[in-house]
Amino acid sequence: MVPVIALVGRPNVGKSTLFNRLTKSRDALVADFAGLTRDRKYGEASWQGKSYIVVDTGGISGDEQGIDQVMAGQSLQAIEEADAVLFMVDARAGRTAADEMIAEHLRKRDKHTFLIANKIDGADQDAILGEFAALGLGQPIPIAAAHGRNINPMLEAVLADGAADEELELDADGQPLPRERKVVEPIGTKIAVIGRPNVGKSTLVNRMLGEDRVVVFDQAGTTRDSIYIPYHRHDKPYTLIDTAGVRKRGKIFEAIEKFSVVKTLQAIQDANVVIFVVDAREGIVEHDLNLLGFVLDAGRALVIAVNKWDGLAEEQKDYVKTELQRRLIFAQFADIHFISALHGSGVGLLYKSVDQAFASAMTKVPTRRMTEILEDAVTEHQPPMVNGRRIKLRYAHLGGSNPPIIVIHGNQVDSVPRSYTRYLENTYRKVLKMVGTPLRVEYKSSD
Ligand code: GDP
Ligand code: GDP
Repeated sequence: MVPVIALVGRPNVGKSTLFNRLTKSRDALVADFAGLTRDRKYGEASWQGKSYIVVDTGGISGDEQGIDQVMAGQSLQAIEEADAVLFMVDARAGRTAADEMIAEHLRKRDKHTFLIANKIDGADQDAILGEFAALGLGQPIPIAAAHGRNINPMLEAVLADGAADEELELDADGQPLPRERKVVEPIGTKIAVIGRPNVGKSTLVNRMLGEDRVVVFDQAGTTRDSIYIPYHRHDKPYTLIDTAGVRKRGKIFEAIEKFSVVKTLQAIQDANVVIFVVDAREGIVEHDLNLLGFVLDAGRALVIAVNKWDGLAEEQKDYVKTELQRRLIFAQFADIHFISALHGSGVGLLYKSVDQAFASAMTKVPTRRMTEILEDAVTEHQPPMVNGRRIKLRYAHLGGSNPPIIVIHGNQVDSVPRSYTRYLENTYRKVLKMVGTPLRVEYKSSD
């Protein structure tokens, strides 16, 4: 599982500055789920090849009506779901009453908490260390987020040696309890069903598993875990990653509680194929685009399910189709299905697209074939001249799968225009009949 790190602290200590610095390192897409989850921001980042999710919790000022009220609220769900908390304080401003309130709350939680003293530029380090150590959360790690100072040692402390691994449950004496965790081994294609609250994810998951199938969910784990359901369909193995949590019959939870961005992002990371569920009656909204951004960024295969297609008038259907085409222009590679999870229509065809997307994402193509396709593409349409010299593309190989990575070797490859890269990508897609998966093109210079 990808670890989740929450940035916590009163306003102005530098949370968003650190957030931007951590996520910018790989041009991560930032999903701003304002409205749905207050001001929290989610970003994907990586350090030394290890991916993690950063959450900027925004909100806590310490001025609220007692910290407990704040803790009970939405903005604290992120802390609950996090593997590690970076509690940030402002070294220039010194320790404040709000810092103390937040510290007190964090001390009570069995979370990996790291005290981060930001803005050490121009502050007296020794004085800071003493002042903030009094918060009772250990020695502060000094950084300057705005200047990128000490970020690597901080990440090392947080991410190395499993420091950010799953939280431990403690017994009355504060000793870690042994974890009786049923580890579910995923089989076959891992499918994540994602989408905003109430679009019909649970209904669809139940449909996909088959109506009369009795599924027993006794997977221990923290509430934030998605449920992994291995099963066979027509003798083919699959594992559904259920982010919504299949409901016990008759029990209805609040949508907002059920929905968790962290779960969704982790499921995307862990899946081979994402089924992205949209409500036909609501169309594509900003949140959908943000979520789709994460799917594309992760390079996952994608199938779009427009749900609740039942009971729509013909002119509504036409309108929805046109709107979708317009808004999903950047995900054209994905099959779109119009389904009714409630009635079960269109669900069988979804599987066809999932299988096809998975097969495309995992395709193996010999280097000779990859190079042939490149040569044909170049013959058909030459790359442009740069400074009087023509860009030379010599050969290609497949450098990865899910998503397939097309590695192209040549000269002056830094100057290949985006439009030409798109042309190559489209050519490979067409010739190799790739459906449902994003492709990546990377260049290797042989200058
Ligand atoms: P947030 O409210 O906790 O998200 O704080 P911001 O990230 O918005 O930062 C608040 C202010 O502190 C901004 O003006 C930042 O430029 C400034 N800031 C952030 N990091 C540093 C730092 O390392 N050194 C200094 N001197 N200023 C910083
Ligand atoms: P989730 O929050 O995404 O898991 O959504 P649910 O599966 O809980 O569905 C939310 C609501 O939409 C429930 O009342 C469902 O009965 C309803 N619903 C789900 N799928 C369909 C559908 O295909 N058609 C119609 N009309 N309603 C649906």
